[in-house]
Amino acid sequence: MSFSALGLKPELLRAVAEKSYDTPTLIQSQAIPAVLARRDVLAGAQTGTGKTAAFVLPILQLLGEPEGRTPRALILTPTRELAAQVAQSARDYGRYLRLRSAVVFGGVGIHPQIAALRAGCDLLVATPGRLIDLAEQNALDLSRLQCFVLDEADRMLDMGFIHAIKRILKLLPPQRQNLLFSATYSDDIRELATRLLRDPQTIEAAPRNATADRVEQTIYRVAQEHKRHLLAHLIRGGNWGQVLVFTRTKHGANRLTKQLTAVGIRAAAIHGNKSQAARVRALKDFKDNQITALVATEVAARGLDIKELPWVVNYDLPNVPEDYVHRIGRTARAGATGGAVSLVSPEEAGLLRTIERLLKRALPIAETPRFEIVAANTAPPQAQAPAALRPHARSARRGSRPRGAISGRSTSTASGR
Ligand code: AMP
Repeated sequence: MSFSALGLKPELLRAVAEKSYDTPTLIQSQAIPAVLARRDVLAGAQTGTGKTAAFVLPILQLLGEPEGRTPRALILTPTRELAAQVAQSARDYGRYLRLRSAVVFGGVGIHPQIAALRAGCDLLVATPGRLIDLAEQNALDLSRLQCFVLDEADRMLDMGFIHAIKRILKLLPPQRQNLLFSATYSDDIRELATRLLRDPQTIEAAPRNATADRVEQTIYRVAQEHKRHLLAHLIRGGNWGQVLVFTRTKHGANRLTKQLTAVGIRAAAIHGNKSQAARVRALKDFKDNQITALVATEVAARGLDIKELPWVVNYDLPNVPEDYVHRIGRTARAGATGGAVSLVSPEEAGLLRTIERLLKRALPIAETPRFEIVAANTAPPQAQAPAALRPHARSARRGSRPRGAISGRSTSTASGR
């Protein structure tokens, strides 16, 4: 199947060809004709499937010529990164059209955005909070909207945007086309879909919550304070060239990045407290293989355009079980080496059970390999605290065989079991 067979106009085909896309992805070949036919769409698709082009291309076609000042298509995304990426895609795919697009999100000044809206736009990409702010300031009129897209709807609900979404829906005219994209389906998503969509065409780019079945998954039980040593062992021992590591908190991401760097593994953190420039740089370094481990929080990693990865590590299990499916879906590489590794501490047993309930099966627990405990001499003073103050210190010691200092590092081994 080629893009021209999908009924897209020459200006869009030209832009697509310039992106060097040869064939439409699965989601594109299904969604583009449906959207062009003005159907509502419910699509199960995550980042990496080509979902953005799947809705942006047909929307640009339906919008036709620039018209009026108020947006006729609205794409709502959970994060500013994703909003910026989608807006960039709209600019790229629409480069041979005269349509005007704008993007609005929080964390930056509102006035330039008000000015951009005043100047007029046909397609608007927005995060929920800023969209509501703008509407409340009467800077935004959505009464002529024709097409509404909820991108990464599951993430929006996880981030607590349901009330914002309901408020936004009230600002929209009743007659409109609705597209809902979600990587996972929870009951809340189904309820939202029922409320939002009329006779939708259902499209599955990845089977529901089933990505997990195609990914080689390994669970290692390990004490929380030994996770970093096991991770370093896995990266080195397995010669992992590229690994995306998920931590629960920004602080945890920073700390782990420092710890990996201290033992000679090139790592960078990516999370909400990092400047946009730092995030872009970390991502670029990762893609260019300048760093081995990209340590990310859930929100920061979501929406990042990182194509299939050899390795994904859950350094901390996610609090929301659907996130597990989404995270490990980053590495569905049939036949290739790679997979998803979860380091599960005893405290996380409950989280593991909720994930297994979602997947409707038990996840196999692999034998934790023996690994070295490498303490850099530069460790902060608290790491030198008396053993009695360190939880699990004794059990760790029991399995350890001190080997003496090696070039400024003290090492021992532990099985972590
Ligand atoms: P998305 O899932 O929308 O985040 O897209 C993931 C990546 O796939 C982006 O880098 C797109 O530029 C790229 N992409 C989208 N459609 C195609 C296609 N048909 N062929 C090759 N690459 C594509």
